[in-house]
Amino acid sequence: MVSGIVFDMQRFSLHDGPGIRTTVFFKGCPLRCLWCHNPESINPKIELAFYKHKCIGCNSCVNICPTGALQNSERDGKSYNIEHCQFCWKCVKVCPSEALVLQGKVVSIDEVLEETSKDIPFYKQSGGGVTLSGGEPTFQFDFCFHLLKGCKEIGINTALDTSGFVSWEKLEVLLPFVDIFLYDIKHMDSGEHKRLTGVSNEIILENLFKLNDAGKDIEVRIPIIPGYNDSKENITAISRFIANLKSIKKVKLLPYHKLGLSKPWLFNNRRGILDLEPPKKEDLEEIKSIMREYIDKEKIY
Ligand code: SF4
Ligand code: SF4
Repeated sequence: MVSGIVFDMQRFSLHDGPGIRTTVFFKGCPLRCLWCHNPESINPKIELAFYKHKCIGCNSCVNICPTGALQNSERDGKSYNIEHCQFCWKCVKVCPSEALVLQGKVVSIDEVLEETSKDIPFYKQSGGGVTLSGGEPTFQFDFCFHLLKGCKEIGINTALDTSGFVSWEKLEVLLPFVDIFLYDIKHMDSGEHKRLTGVSNEIILENLFKLNDAGKDIEVRIPIIPGYNDSKENITAISRFIANLKSIKKVKLLPYHKLGLSKPWLFNNRRGILDLEPPKKEDLEEIKSIMREYIDKEKIY
């Protein structure tokens, strides 16, 4: 039976595609966006995370750890050496305050379908369905394929929230099972894209062209990261690029927010997430007015 690793399933989601949806968050992502608001999605494996503010200092975790992988740390509260970890998760089980938690769990296709089927009446009423998000869902390709196929077999509308950083051969296999693609464009300059996300943008832009040619419904999503990708030059370049792609039904701005900063401390992902002021309403309006010069205003959200 095909299974995968997810870090969350959110019912009654209103922001991940049309209507009321259940969003399944996959673990694993090939990108390293500086503003990532789901840092727990990056590592494809189940991992240990720590909420320092919940720790009551009982030391049960350090005492029970059979290998010394978990230690006290003056700076961070706890330190964790994955090289010495046996992944027994005794430390998590013994923690009385849920300061140590696991990010991610293994689920089968049947389990996900059972959960997502609960809201079929709401999907039908609202034009909603199931959204695969993450992380990058195609990073767990078999799981992604079988989940999309399983949804379609029971008549559930599907959305795939993707960075587009995946081979066309894989994306093409998924086409019959995806009703709408939620497709990120972050920067038109490939060098800047690489600096901000860790990968260049050629594959992403080529795949968007191909999806458009295939006639698939697409919602383009543009994260707005103040000082990083919100220049007039970049917004104009993105707008020009997507202006003639007929399959794009909607263009949605995703303003930077600080949610990623409130997530638990991931021992093996110590990079800092950008701590910025979110864009102001008037800045977003200015961006939309630039976009309206190239794109039908009815499509811009
Ligand atoms: S999971 Fe790793 S860190 Fe936790 S108790 Fe087991 S060996 Fe120690
Ligand atoms: S068991 Fe939990 S509360 Fe106790 S020291 Fe470890 S992390 Fe903190």
